[in-house]
Amino acid sequence: MTAKKKKVMLLPGDGIGQEVMAQVVRIMEWMDQAGMASFELMAGKIGGSSIDAFGEPLTDETLADCLSCDAVLMGAVGGPKWDDVPFDKKPERGLLRIRKDMGLFANLRPALVFEELAEASTLKREVVAGLDIMIVRELTGGIYFGQPRGIETLPNGDRKGFNTLVYTTPEIQRIGRVAFDLAMKRNKRVTSVDKANVLESTILWREEMEKVAKDYPGVELSHLYVDNASMQLVRNPKQFDVMVTTNMFGDILSDCASMLTGSLGMLPSASLGATDAAGHRNALYEPVHGSAPDIAGKNLANPLAMILSLAMMLRYSFDMDAAADRLENAVKATLSDGVRTGDIMQEGATKVGTSGMGDAVLRHLAAG
Ligand code: NAD
Repeated sequence: MTAKKKKVMLLPGDGIGQEVMAQVVRIMEWMDQAGMASFELMAGKIGGSSIDAFGEPLTDETLADCLSCDAVLMGAVGGPKWDDVPFDKKPERGLLRIRKDMGLFANLRPALVFEELAEASTLKREVVAGLDIMIVRELTGGIYFGQPRGIETLPNGDRKGFNTLVYTTPEIQRIGRVAFDLAMKRNKRVTSVDKANVLESTILWREEMEKVAKDYPGVELSHLYVDNASMQLVRNPKQFDVMVTTNMFGDILSDCASMLTGSLGMLPSASLGATDAAGHRNALYEPVHGSAPDIAGKNLANPLAMILSLAMMLRYSFDMDAAADRLENAVKATLSDGVRTGDIMQEGATKVGTSGMGDAVLRHLAAG
């Protein structure tokens, strides 16, 4: 296959971000050599490594490079080394800025339980085996970005901290459409999560979701309050197909859903922007986990979340479903062989390090 080169920006970031990204690069190079895809790779810094090099967590130049690419792959940011830098220069600010400036308003977090790892969950096997949910979180609006915000000292000397939860109809409708489009390709069910019994902004959220649903007659829409949703997610998670929710609720619910699967080291994510007139859509793919300073630099990190993020990139940015399936099947075959990093280790399995896991996936990819 000799299609146009796919320009991909690599931002390994900090800690284990560097190690897991190295395994993904090996896979992309293999795909290139095998003629499955043709990548043009660029690399840059984000988070602590960017602070060390340039004094800020994301430079304008790196952001411009990201915007010039077809997709961005990111590792993770942060670590104790940068705990004391000022708030607006923290590694995590680089992450917030890239999401905002690339217009990445939709965060897709699948919670998928591989059959081989059902025992790794703290929940009973029958509750999680075969779980396949997609959580769609609004990522650039809501209380994390709303103005006014701040901490003030009142005339009586007390201090006041405040944030603003605000959503507009276009913001709600575009995230709704992402969720419904995904549901069309899945089990055709969307659960919208809000707190419409208390918050006006989410009364609007619920009303707008109902409007979007009219354009998708084949998809069933239901609504849950966030407190009930968090309870249902633990009680009977398999009832859900696609969940769509606000920035802060999504932040919390998606972490809860991750833990149903047993390991942070297995969970990929995608953050998508709007599709422009030329058909281009900004997109960033990253594992859900952080930089894991406790195991960084020791060849202990599980690279599968990063590798599965590459599979999401192939599927959602490049429409390469066959290549994505082949990569995901290579991951499944590796797990079936009993190959495990420490975080997902089970009795009788073969323990490997980060690069050993990369070797095993590459072997199955080549065989597949
Ligand atoms: P973390 O995800 O880095 O680690 C939590 C625990 O899970 C640790 O014990 C770690 O060893 C383990 N773990 C995580 N990923 C793993 C993997 N791939 N393989 C094996 N084990 C894995 O979360 P944390 O410890 O709360 O945060 C560490 C740093 O990462 C902080 O600076 C935090 O701000 C940052 N962080 C960044 C992101 C991101 O870049 N998207 C996300 C979360 C946290």
